[in-house]
Amino acid sequence: MATIFTKIINREIPASIVFENEKVIAFKDINPQAPVHILVVPKKEIATLNDVTKEDFEYITAIYQAIQEITKELGISEKGYRVITNCNSHGGQEVFHLHFHILGGEPLGALVK
Ligand code: 5GP
Repeated sequence: MATIFTKIINREIPASIVFENEKVIAFKDINPQAPVHILVVPKKEIATLNDVTKEDFEYITAIYQAIQEITKELGISEKGYRVITNCNSHGGQEVFHLHFHILGGEPLGALVK
């Protein structure tokens, strides 16, 4: 069954899309944890970071290129931001389609539990 993020990629459910190319889509998180909270998602259903293989590295490269473009476009690149990938239960992963959270727009403080 398609993940919720694949449904966004296929325009089956709406999202506020801020970036898209052949390999990657990025959209606003529905439950933002910072003034800027974007999810960057490969257009391939990779369940977790543990499942990334060498064949997927072009997606990982595309994700980091997208992060650079998005943060520049949104005006947060200079002051800075945080990128997070949660993996499995201890990481707090809820959606099993690899994604990278971009958080920014204010000082984020230390990483805490
Ligand atoms: P995870 O906990 O898996 O790292 O993060 C999943 C994220 O996806 C959460 O921050 C959650 O708010 C977001 N999310 C879940 N469902 C949707 C949705 O339908 N649309 C959007 N835009 N974000 C979603």
